[in-house]
Amino acid sequence: MVPPRGSNSAALLSAEHVSKRYSNDVLALDDFCLTINPGEIVGLIGPNGAGKSTVLNVLGGFLHPTGGTVTTATNRIGWCPQQTVVDWSLTALENAVLVARLFGANRRQALAQAEQALDLLGLHAVATTQAEELSGGQLQRIQIARAICFNASLLLLDEPTTGLDVEGQIALWTYLNVRRDAGVGILVSSHDLDALERSCDRFLILRHGHIVMTSSVAQLTGSDDEATTLRQAYLSTGEEDR
Ligand code: ADP
Ligand code: MG
Repeated sequence: MVPPRGSNSAALLSAEHVSKRYSNDVLALDDFCLTINPGEIVGLIGPNGAGKSTVLNVLGGFLHPTGGTVTTATNRIGWCPQQTVVDWSLTALENAVLVARLFGANRRQALAQAEQALDLLGLHAVATTQAEELSGGQLQRIQIARAICFNASLLLLDEPTTGLDVEGQIALWTYLNVRRDAGVGILVSSHDLDALERSCDRFLILRHGHIVMTSSVAQLTGSDDEATTLRQAYLSTGEEDR
């Protein structure tokens, strides 16, 4: 029997009982557990304020959890936060080159990888424009370029397709599927449930800082009598909120 995707291999990331309480006393995340294996795309779903960005920022090492532990088996982590974290004095291309260089590429390789990432995201025309002169949507695409411009083993992407045009969304999902098939582990948050259902191997639904459902897409849609879509499953977890 063929093992399910992502199983049977050492985890790239393991979060155990992670919690995050912000200084204003908001408990944004409680008892969060997740393992990400090589070769799988995990979707993170939840309404605004559910704690998705908190998860991605804690797992990316940007925020310290208040409790629990996060263990990573790689430092080649491509992190695309929701907030803008770019080098403002650098051009779009230089932003990606810098990250590729930091992850060990030589000057020539870094340039080639950065150009490839900018092309994929439709940023070619603004390659030599300084970040501070770019629009919000362009900055968001630079953020993605910085995460994918080196051969990351683990990608942590916070709503990367929000604000992308249709071509950009298709290009990014195609890229993520190729990387998954090459053994990369990917955690991606999104409100695009159809795209998640098409590409993810499994998903977590987060509400009020708690995981309220975790399942593989195959488990969800597989049984004939109780076949359900990701959209139906998601909405069913929010019924008491309405
Ligand atoms: P999501 O990404 O799912 O929209 P967030 O992780 O951004 O959710 O936020 C989860 C909760 O934590 C929300 O109630 C939000 O107001 C709160 N929160 C997020 N960032 C901070 C912060 N820096 N300080 C205080 N509260 C925060
Ligand atoms: Mg968010």
